[in-house]
Amino acid sequence: MSDLEYLRSLIKAVPDFPQEGIMFRDIFPIFQDPRAIEMLVSHIVNHINETIKEKIDVIVGLDARGFLFGPMVALRLNAAFVPSRKKGKLPGETLSADFKKEYGVDTFEMQVGAIKPGQNVIIMDDLIATGGTAAAAGRLVEKSGGKLLEYIFLIELADLNGRKNLTAPIYSMITF
Ligand code: AMP
Repeated sequence: MSDLEYLRSLIKAVPDFPQEGIMFRDIFPIFQDPRAIEMLVSHIVNHINETIKEKIDVIVGLDARGFLFGPMVALRLNAAFVPSRKKGKLPGETLSADFKKEYGVDTFEMQVGAIKPGQNVIIMDDLIATGGTAAAAGRLVEKSGGKLLEYIFLIELADLNGRKNLTAPIYSMITF
């Protein structure tokens, strides 16, 4: 079994969570298995090293599951980690970007100065569905003056075609 097949086998499909009609993809079993954590992080680091020529300065992780492996990848690349957080959690001056959720609007914030103008940035999250969440994070990178080189997702829900809402290249490891 390849590393990606093994990771895929650990992701649990939970029907009707958190509401009816949603097939929730639970990635926490990966984090209960140190060998799988190593595979996940190494796969992403190898992908970046093999396909991106520029030095990566910043990994941006999206609240909340992008915080699970974004810092591990940043550490291996000798890059910074910057969180894109839900509104009201970050102290100091922040930039903000709204995005649509199933019900109403949500807001991401990023600390001013966390990304410096001209820095090379990769955005990372567990899953892309409609792409609205990732698009908002992309706007924060843009407002900071960072150069967004790629989006990396562990899972892509292909039916929803969230890709069409993103302007930077996209790499997803596992598609459902
Ligand atoms: P979207 O903005 O529609 O692309 O939604 C992506 C965000 O919602 C990610 O941060 C995911 O963690 C979460 N999400 C959306 N759909 C699912 C799903 N089926 N299973 C797990 N997480 C999901």
